[in-house]
Amino acid sequence: MTTTPPTTSPRPVAERHLFGPGPCNPYPEATLALAAPLLGHLDPDFLAVMDETCDLLRYVWGTDNRRTLPLSATGSAGMEAAFVNTVSPGDVVVVAVNGLFGERMVDVAGRHGAEVVRVDHAWGTPVDAERVAAAHPSPKIIAAVHAETSTGVRSDIAALAAVKGDALLLVDAVTSIGGIELRADDWGVDIGYAGTQKCLGVAPGLAPFTISDRAFERRVEKPSSWYLDLGLLGGYVGEASGAGKRTYHHTAPTAMVASLHAGLRRIADEGLEKVWDRHAEAGRLLQDGLEEMGLELFAQEGSRLPELTTVRVPDGVDSAAVRGYLLERHNLEIGAGVGEFASTVWRIGLMGHNARPDRVALVLAALEDALAHTH
Ligand SMILES: *Cc1c(COP(=O)(O)O)cnc(C)c1O
Repeated sequence: MTTTPPTTSPRPVAERHLFGPGPCNPYPEATLALAAPLLGHLDPDFLAVMDETCDLLRYVWGTDNRRTLPLSATGSAGMEAAFVNTVSPGDVVVVAVNGLFGERMVDVAGRHGAEVVRVDHAWGTPVDAERVAAAHPSPKIIAAVHAETSTGVRSDIAALAAVKGDALLLVDAVTSIGGIELRADDWGVDIGYAGTQKCLGVAPGLAPFTISDRAFERRVEKPSSWYLDLGLLGGYVGEASGAGKRTYHHTAPTAMVASLHAGLRRIADEGLEKVWDRHAEAGRLLQDGLEEMGLELFAQEGSRLPELTTVRVPDGVDSAAVRGYLLERHNLEIGAGVGEFASTVWRIGLMGHNARPDRVALVLAALEDALAHTH
């Protein structure tokens, strides 16, 4: 039996600049909220925070869906909830695959018994709505990733909605929400999930989720996941109002919800469209700066995400050595590539509070220094 605690090793105290694919450095308001006195999950004061958080989530999703709530887990649980609540064995699900997260949707939908029809696209290119529509005459669900974090590509969700027919449109908005234009209702998104640690500028831990009435009516009555059952979760958030009507399902992570609330409040105070503009400007400055350094961008021109830039590692440069140098010398994290591009592409995120011109200057200068010192 261990009777003494393990000796602790010194922990770094310097703040990291988080310019990878997420998490990013949170908005200061979101960090401060984590230090506020903790509330119980049925405390009327907390329920007011939860209600307002759901209202603010409707604002950033661009939806009136009453079932809009933060799930108590990271973005991947949003993906799991989306499929487990809507797929019965044998249901046809068409998945547009243009990167890692589309690939993951294929896996998750298949685990829940879907007959998956995948429509593959070259990595670095956006989803082609016509090809997706032609893949099957009457799928139950069409699924796609709005912002592919693995490749830095934006796909046109409105174009997919225009060809979805009677299918439900299921969208991964983990890296788009709070960063680029997202209008779930105007576009015709039926089911959407997101995460807190990308452009919403909050620590990882919650999955903002939304589902239309139309999709909810077609859901699986008793999904194989108890924890992510939207029917049960609705008794606590989204449908009920007033403390007396809430039924206990699981203990909501109250500190994280308070932090999300503060991050969303910050976005609303700045104005969502202004926040999108700020991301667009930061991304443009970064991408121009990288090209001026002679580097080549990876994502197809015209479909590049401002919040996540993919850039090719120059020939003869050791990708990992550069990332190691940036972390050690500059306390600055950027991401490696994914899959086949693991060592040939870097991913640079400018999300949430990091989507600012001074952050762009910082990352460009650090990268220039790293390239000069890691041959
Ligand atoms: C990060 C990410 C996820 C997964 O979210 P986690 O919070 O890591 O579970 C899913 N989809 C996309 C597009 C992402 O960028």
